[in-house]
Amino acid sequence: TSRKNSMTNQGQLTVVVRVRPLNKDEKDRRQFQCVFPLDKQRILLVDPEKYENNILRQNRPHEKLFNFDATFGPNSTQEDVHAATTGPVIEALVAGYNATVFAYGATGSGKTYTMIGTKEKPGLMTLLTQSLYEKINPQEYTVLLSYLEIYNELIRDLLNPQSGVLDLMEDERGNIRVPGLSTVRAPNVNRIMQILQEGNLRRTQEATQANKTSSRSHALLQVTLLKNNRPYGKLFMIDLAGSERAANTQNRGQRLKEGAAINRSLLALGNVINSLSSSKPGYVNYRDSKLTRLLKDSLGGSAKTCMIAHVTPASGRYEETYNTLVYAARAK
Ligand code: ADP
Ligand code: MG
Repeated sequence: TSRKNSMTNQGQLTVVVRVRPLNKDEKDRRQFQCVFPLDKQRILLVDPEKYENNILRQNRPHEKLFNFDATFGPNSTQEDVHAATTGPVIEALVAGYNATVFAYGATGSGKTYTMIGTKEKPGLMTLLTQSLYEKINPQEYTVLLSYLEIYNELIRDLLNPQSGVLDLMEDERGNIRVPGLSTVRAPNVNRIMQILQEGNLRRTQEATQANKTSSRSHALLQVTLLKNNRPYGKLFMIDLAGSERAANTQNRGQRLKEGAAINRSLLALGNVINSLSSSKPGYVNYRDSKLTRLLKDSLGGSAKTCMIAHVTPASGRYEETYNTLVYAARAK
């Protein structure tokens, strides 16, 4: 793309896609795989309707090909994904740069699995923090963790729910802060996992008709690196709210308002990323949502950004998958 000519953000933006395995429910309902990682960079999407109606003409209208920096199939491991995404981010962080890694995708596509994972298969939040500890000299550096959510454009501390709704401040040098947000030191993997899982239980989750455990909030792990007790580098790892559209879930009232807030943040995020990756160094509008305002000093400029888009391979969710791949491809 024209991004090759970009002066500020070249090589700073990585977009990858992870395809989770078909689950039992999808198999029971006789759904088939319609997403195929072809190689390290290309993903093939097959339109099940066109395929089943046998519209297999020479120009193959049932197939769409997408290109990314990396693709991960159903058998990929947490370590595979870490090596291509959060691994390189550590270098930037230790060099004093800020960074953002976010998991994008519809509810049930595997975002939380990638970011938090399980005790047996810890996700990127843990793998990154752990490798960061291994890279730094503990006499010189301190690592602090904060865990917060943005729900309906309101910020809450997932480590300390008593603190209520928190504000967002920008100082004269453009540094973003959330006064009152708690920080903890997490000395080992078990403790990190405990913090993440406890925090996740506090996330605002309400049943929607589309999915009972649908995640309506953005969860952000903030990793702050101090060097000789002074702020040095900052990293956000974000488990975004489900990207499915409010219109798909027959939502009314509160749920509809939520859907609008989620879409506003995701749309604003898409716009910011898109303007960063554009060859024209135009105006970047961070003001449109809480999410982009919070990320302002960690997204764009010298900050390293990595987007991990998630899809299920199930034929029944083709539409959603198509939307996710288009959003991710547009970011490049
Ligand atoms: P999301 O956070 O996007 O809503 P989840 O991470 O909760 O989705 O994933 C939905 C289900 O699929 C969970 O039961 C999860 O354990 C499983 N899953 C997701 N990704 C994978 C994967 N790469 N390998 C194995 N199971 C996965
Ligand atoms: Mg989730």
